[in-house]
Amino acid sequence: RTRRNKTHIFLPHLVASMEEVEETYIMIKPDGVQRGLVGEIISRFERKGFKLTGLKLFQCPKELAEEHYKDLKTKPFFPKLIEYITSGPVVCMAWEGVGVVASARKLIGATNPLQAEPGTIRGDLAVQTGRNVVHGSDSPENGKREIDLWFKEGELCQWVHVQAPWLRE
Ligand code: ADP
Repeated sequence: RTRRNKTHIFLPHLVASMEEVEETYIMIKPDGVQRGLVGEIISRFERKGFKLTGLKLFQCPKELAEEHYKDLKTKPFFPKLIEYITSGPVVCMAWEGVGVVASARKLIGATNPLQAEPGTIRGDLAVQTGRNVVHGSDSPENGKREIDLWFKEGELCQWVHVQAPWLRE
């Protein structure tokens, strides 16, 4: 896909090699938006040193929520999960960086917030699995799949992160 082509030909010394760079889909769920945690959650990824390439507030239609969580279709909590995700606006984000997929999962913490370590988003800010404030892709493949699912052509920005030389040697 053309929008994924990195235009890092200028300032090549400032960016990691293209093969190393991953992308992940992070979503602040409706409870995170309603509880006023949007800035707090975005800050954690920004301060870590990842690069934001897509961001929007979005009311998710039922069909999209079902497609996103299709692997959980047979779970007993699936209908409630769809109801939850479509219950108010979500914040959709694409983040890019070396190792961003696994690192974002660590920053987010365990699925059950009561088991999530203090210092993680869920560990610090949530108490129940059914209201765990944020989603993060579980593999680089799903990162790409989910970004394609939630963002339209033209909604992602490629830009040079000026912090790059101060983040990686
Ligand atoms: P994660 O979001 O940590 O990758 P899963 O992929 O297992 O976790 O589940 C997706 C989402 O489905 C969870 O974040 C949570 O919102 C919801 N969920 C998972 N398990 C349950 C459950 N037992 N009860 C209610 N909701 C659940």
